[in-house]
Amino acid sequence: MTAPGERIVCAIDTADLDEAKRLADRVAGAVGSLKIGLQFYVAHGAAGVAALAKTGLPIFLDLKFHDIPNTVAGAVRAAAAAAPAMLTVHAGGGAAMMRAAAAAAMRLPDRSGGARPKVLAVTVLTSFDRADAESVGLAGSIEELVTRSAALAQASGLDGAVASAREVAALRARCGADFTLVVPGVRPGWASADDQKRIVTPAEALRLGADYLVIGRPIARADDPADAARRIADEMSGAL
Ligand code: C5P
Repeated sequence: MTAPGERIVCAIDTADLDEAKRLADRVAGAVGSLKIGLQFYVAHGAAGVAALAKTGLPIFLDLKFHDIPNTVAGAVRAAAAAAPAMLTVHAGGGAAMMRAAAAAAMRLPDRSGGARPKVLAVTVLTSFDRADAESVGLAGSIEELVTRSAALAQASGLDGAVASAREVAALRARCGADFTLVVPGVRPGWASADDQKRIVTPAEALRLGADYLVIGRPIARADDPADAARRIADEMSGAL
C-alpha cells in the first residue's frame, strides 16, 4: 500500500526560485510530489523544474494546456524536458485535443523510472459558478458539466482529472478505480481555510475517492513544513 505521505502533492505557488527550492528541500521525504503551476513555470521554465526535481520528488506540471490539438501535442512533447510524472490539459479543448495530448504522452521516450507522464484533465475551473458557465455558453449544472467533461477525458485516453472534493465521489463512481483523481482545496483540521471555499479534510477526501491531495499553504506557511506534511499524512492514515 502507498504510504499516506506519497499521496500529498505539495503546491509550489511562488515565482521566487530560492523560496521554491527551500520549500522543496524541506518537504522532500514527507510528501509524494511537487505541483508546479504557471506562476513558477513562466518565471523559471524547465531549468527551474529541474532545480526542484533535484530533491528526487516527482513533478506534477500543472500548466493546463488548451490550444489546437497539434499545438498541445507539441507542448506535451516539449514538457518532457521537465520529466513530469503528471501534467494537465483543459477538457474544454475537446476530444481531439485530449486524444492528441494522450498520444503525445504515450510516445514520449521512457524516463529512467520507465513511466510516461500521466495526462490529467482540468474539467471546470472551481472559480466558475453557474452564471460564469452560462455566460460562456455552457448549459447544465456544474456537477453535470464536470462529470461530462471527465467522462469525455477518459474516453479520449486521459489518465485522470483534477477534481474538487465536491465532485470526487461522483467522478470515482463514473470513471472507475483506475482513473487518477487529484483533489485540491484540502485542509487538515488544524489549518485555516484561507480562500478555499469547498474544503474537506485529508481523510474525507481520500474516503470520497481521491488518489492524490494537492496541499499548498497549510504546508508552505507552516513553521516546519515537513512536520506539517507528516501531521497531514497521520490524519490520512485513518482513511487508508
Ligand atoms: O494553498 P492551497 O492548499 O489552497 O493550494 C492549493 C493549490 O491547488 C494551489 O496551487 C491552487 O492553485 C490549486 N488549485 C485549487 N483549486 C483548484 C485547482 C487548483 O486550489 N480547483
